[in-house]
Amino acid sequence: MINKLVIVGVGLIGGSLALALRQAGAVREIIGVGRSRENLETARALGIIDRIGTSLADAAHEADVIVLAVPVAAMQPAMRELALHLAPATIVTDVGSTKRDVITCARQHLPEHLGRFIPGHPIAGAEKSGAAAAFANLFQGRNVVVTPLPENETEAVSRIASMWQTCGATVNTMSAQKHDEIFAAVSHLPHLLSFALVEDIAFRANAKELFSYAAGGFRDFTRIAGSHPEMWRDICLANRDALIREIDTYQSQLDRLRGMLEQSDGKSLEEVFGHARTARAEWLAGKQDS
Ligand code: NAP
Repeated sequence: MINKLVIVGVGLIGGSLALALRQAGAVREIIGVGRSRENLETARALGIIDRIGTSLADAAHEADVIVLAVPVAAMQPAMRELALHLAPATIVTDVGSTKRDVITCARQHLPEHLGRFIPGHPIAGAEKSGAAAAFANLFQGRNVVVTPLPENETEAVSRIASMWQTCGATVNTMSAQKHDEIFAAVSHLPHLLSFALVEDIAFRANAKELFSYAAGGFRDFTRIAGSHPEMWRDICLANRDALIREIDTYQSQLDRLRGMLEQSDGKSLEEVFGHARTARAEWLAGKQDS
């Protein structure tokens, strides 16, 4: 049971966490802090939070758990302010999509609190954002990656792990370096490619005509280009070294396919497409099993 939970950034992820914990009866009071009053009013009207914190100082007072659920570039100002008001017993965690940068911020701004700062990343999301997009089942059956620090207190890590398990998630732990490399490949690169394709089409002279014929394949490939630009700007910049390596690897794959087209090498093309189709089917089957 969490007596007082503070969510900093009551959007899709922070709001869904609040709803899931409330639905599970695992929290007594939820305070929301954020940027726009309008979003916080929505969160209160929807029963996501009990009250709006007048400031981080007011909200942090006697908090059991504080969850930082703002875009990753906004973690630094949040931690800087939090450092002035944090009680020693409070556990702080985050939900940021990149981990090395958030940990660097914590080392800089919460050096006295590293035992109780537990970095996390729920692998669940949607293209929608804000409190109105939050829903209680978002984390049901999903993974949450925790990247513990050597300084972390075991009890604090366990409490954050059980918080996510209460929401229906499975918790895995790994290093922040490995986390950022994995998600550069399977999340950040696909988002970048999706934004790039839409951008490429949208600024052509005949964009209107092209879009008028775009159908299911284009819709599926570009679904994630509907994601929040500010959030994805921050993620791409925070993980830019790993993401640049992934762009280079992908570029080599494109060059390879381009070469096959130049050579009219249908056999090789079909082989690549066949491998990819099989690998995707196996991935989907594995997901359904788990
Ligand atoms: P979101 O729905 O846009 O929510 C972000 C919240 O943070 C909003 O309430 C926003 O307030 C507030 N905020 C934005 N900038 C701020 C700032 N500079 N200072 C204070 N508050 C600020 O985004 P989200 O999808 O929940 O993402 C939140 C975090 O979860 C990010 O770190 C993201 O990397 C991570 N994450 C996202 C996903 C996903 O797929 N969406 C998945 C896993 C993890 P306003 O509403 O007033 O702008």
